[in-house]
Amino acid sequence: MSVRDMVEKDYYAALGVPKDAPAADIKKAYRKLARELHPDKNPGDAKAEARFKEISEAYDVLSDERRRREYDEARALFQSGRFPGGSGGPNPGGSGFGGSGGFGGPGGFGAQGGVNLDDLLGGFGDMFQRSSQGRGPRRGTDIEAEVTISFEKSLTGLEATVRIPGAATCATCNGVGSRPGTMPRTCPVCRGLGVISRSQGGFALSEPCRECRGVGQIIEHPCPDCHGSGRRAREQRIRIPAGVADAQRLKVRGRGSPGERGGSPGDLEVTVHVQPHPVFGREGPNLTITLPITFSEATLGASVKVPTLDGAPLTVKVPPGTSSGRRLRAKGRGVPKTDGGHGDLIVTVEVTVPKPSDLSPKARTALQEFALAHPGDPREALLEQFGQI
Ligand SMILES: [Zn+2]
Ligand SMILES: [Zn+2]
Repeated sequence: MSVRDMVEKDYYAALGVPKDAPAADIKKAYRKLARELHPDKNPGDAKAEARFKEISEAYDVLSDERRRREYDEARALFQSGRFPGGSGGPNPGGSGFGGSGGFGGPGGFGAQGGVNLDDLLGGFGDMFQRSSQGRGPRRGTDIEAEVTISFEKSLTGLEATVRIPGAATCATCNGVGSRPGTMPRTCPVCRGLGVISRSQGGFALSEPCRECRGVGQIIEHPCPDCHGSGRRAREQRIRIPAGVADAQRLKVRGRGSPGERGGSPGDLEVTVHVQPHPVFGREGPNLTITLPITFSEATLGASVKVPTLDGAPLTVKVPPGTSSGRRLRAKGRGVPKTDGGHGDLIVTVEVTVPKPSDLSPKARTALQEFALAHPGDPREALLEQFGQI
């Protein structure tokens, strides 16, 4: 994170949480926004993608206790006006801001110019790192991503492509954000610094430049592939195991952001969404299905076919005297488990009642005869319980 990033952006506002929000609230706010703004849910919506990137960046910083402290300190310094123009700050170049240091050169200011604000701020940045960050290796941050798969694929497992918005440099413009063959223009207002300094009552005050929104340069001809952001989605292939459940989170070690100064990379954490199936459902390791049977099958018992997702139907025995709602179990025909076994297929039977218009005269007569031959009242015991017979 550059010092400029720290002071320019309000990460708390981006996530809609107060500055003293506990870590759990920050996580909750991020999850909620990430679900709403995820590019898979908003295909082609550049605004949503930009917001998604913004909240990802904010969460990157605020979810890491040390980086969050660092960020809070930087903003406190900035807002107090001691940053970066305070007198007596260790500034090795000694030239001050807006001097002849050559910031507004043709290369502009930023990624490509080889000069960055952290260097210009020199001593300040150093002091900062010494006080709160240290110089040792730093582990890369974890990246959150989401993927949606079909119900069928969740049972067999698959290799899926996960898109991580903004995770890679745009190859078309090399991350500059400007259409190839054009150059970003150095901001004329701040002369490429990204901040405006003015003195007031003997204090030097600094604020982000409004003209360039603190970036230091203005892109007049945005790159057609990244729309000026310089960032593109990175695609990662990951293995999703058979039996994955909806909303399950998979951690792919070492596939997050690269570490700094020899630190290990972060992890990729993928939330899997499984699309519901119109026929089959799931209860833990068990597959579920509701199966219609006829009144005669329910009464006399029968062997009936049940469809499956593996290509061939299964035969189950309906015992004589089966009522609606009874659960029959086909052992080992459910969801694959991580230990190699399978859950069961649970068949809930539902006795279908024919509409009068579907009854042939012969069937109707047979039913009337059945009623006469089987005169019992199934409500008798119930009514007797309340003395209402
Ligand atoms: Zn500017
Ligand atoms: Zn580009």
